[in-house]
Amino acid sequence: MSNTEPDPAERTVCDGPPTGTAEPRADLLEPRDVPLGGPRAMRVRRTLPHRDLRMVGAWCFVDSYGPTDLGGGPGMQVPPHPHIGLQTVSWLLDGEILHQDSLGNARLVRPGQLNLMTAGGGIAHSEQTPAEHSPVLHGVQLWIAQPERDRNGPAHFEQHADLPVLTEDGGRITVINGELGGATSPARTCTPLVGAEIALRPGGRVRLPLRPDFEHAVLALSDPVEVDGTALTTGSLLHLGEGRREVLLSAESASRALLIGGAPFDEELVMWWNFVARTHEEVVEARRDWEAERTGPSPDRFGAVPGYDGAALPAPEPPRARLRARPRARHLER
Ligand code: MN
Repeated sequence: MSNTEPDPAERTVCDGPPTGTAEPRADLLEPRDVPLGGPRAMRVRRTLPHRDLRMVGAWCFVDSYGPTDLGGGPGMQVPPHPHIGLQTVSWLLDGEILHQDSLGNARLVRPGQLNLMTAGGGIAHSEQTPAEHSPVLHGVQLWIAQPERDRNGPAHFEQHADLPVLTEDGGRITVINGELGGATSPARTCTPLVGAEIALRPGGRVRLPLRPDFEHAVLALSDPVEVDGTALTTGSLLHLGEGRREVLLSAESASRALLIGGAPFDEELVMWWNFVARTHEEVVEARRDWEAERTGPSPDRFGAVPGYDGAALPAPEPPRARLRARPRARHLER
């Protein structure tokens, strides 16, 4: 997934943890519709970062898409592009995506499997609907900010096809990242966090245990889904904040949702394009390094994606204004 918004400078992020949350509250955040890149771009729903909320724990970016009937169209076609300072979580409900990266990995991700890419100091990857594919594409991509001690470390890619599943009367819970209900995902994490898909049966009710020291949110992957009595439509996110011990999900018909949560992320971030950094200068340097690699021989910070047939994605114009950290949750300031 690549952020290809025309003016990404607007979306800088995040400072310290929220203070003085007196009581559990829930805020419903609606996604905006953005093209994934290029004239034939697939459109996605972008829920985070949001005007009113920059992060949930270390989760700092949420895109969801579909279900889309590809109908002979190109589907997802994102050429090689760079990342720093984050993990990408690719999760599908329907269809396939081919991931190729500058470490030489070429892996097809399918529904129920986790593709987790750790960028560290730099990696490049492409994401494509493969030539032979299912008719429908439906999925989500999320980014997790890496903390200071890991964010300049080595890049890494892992695929997990055998994640723990909890079966309840009301549905099935797949633990994608971290731990939930006694089941632990094998995926590597840099900070304490959780990610889980909840597949609700028709009329199903599932009560999830939550850690009160985590901040949580629930994203609707399809609808209708009710979260503690609030109806969510596809792509909308109910921010539950901190201090909760459980949440109730229910649905009249079969539906799916994603729980994300984690320890409040207390480092200031600057997010620009596909970079999660700490300062304006780091972003400018990463952009310059990518453009140098893309347009000629240069040091190998990001590297080429050997399996991709075509040109890499150019970076947007450099940020016009100085990038600054912003409050991570605006509603907490009022
Ligand atoms: Mn990407």
